[in-house]
Amino acid sequence: MIDDPRSTILLIEDDPATRTFLADNLTADGYTIRVARGLREGVHELRTQFPDLVVLDVGLPDGSGLDLVRAVRRADGITERIDPKTPMLVLSGRANELDRIRGLEQGADDYLTKPFGYGELRCRIRALLRRTQDRPTHGAVRVGALVVDPVSREVRLDDVPIEVSQKEFALLRVLVSDVTRVFTKEELVQAVWGTKSLGSSRTLDSHACRLRQKLSGSEHQYILNVWGVGYRLLDGGAGAA
Ligand code: CA
Repeated sequence: MIDDPRSTILLIEDDPATRTFLADNLTADGYTIRVARGLREGVHELRTQFPDLVVLDVGLPDGSGLDLVRAVRRADGITERIDPKTPMLVLSGRANELDRIRGLEQGADDYLTKPFGYGELRCRIRALLRRTQDRPTHGAVRVGALVVDPVSREVRLDDVPIEVSQKEFALLRVLVSDVTRVFTKEELVQAVWGTKSLGSSRTLDSHACRLRQKLSGSEHQYILNVWGVGYRLLDGGAGAA
């Protein structure tokens, strides 16, 4: 089986040697890797990058990885913008059985004890991704004639696939998470580019503009620029003929 190169894996690990080793190998195997050194960074990545799978350490400088597993499982997928079903594989140096059971009870999908072989980790990642991707249209959001599928990263308008860049997809994914809400430019820049700097607000505007053009093929307008504030998604109503 060939690894699905579209899959993004978030790696939360504070040990630089382990982190670099895993990031290098998983990248070589075709995955897109995002790294975080602790819980705070990890949560930020989950909210903004929507990884397909998380590999995380238990002992992190700002808390326990198991707390994050619990928090993700409790997320409602809307206000938190974190998919509660995100597959999570826990890596831990704690070998005893009780710890392993605890990890699985908190909602981890798999548990691997350090030291582990890279080959075994990779097999388990593949198996988890296969299970997730077999879920039928899991998490796809429909807004009028627009369908956004976070798993296949597909955007369809009137059943026609629309090509969008990674950043455009990330932007759209935030906007569809709450169709009634106006997202401020600050929020969107933070969510998509991971920075608070509003110097990126021109970049945001140009991405939003391109996305707006791509999504205005039908008679509806989906991306609405709320002057002086930010952007929101329209439920296909405005601009209707
Ligand atoms: Ca650690």
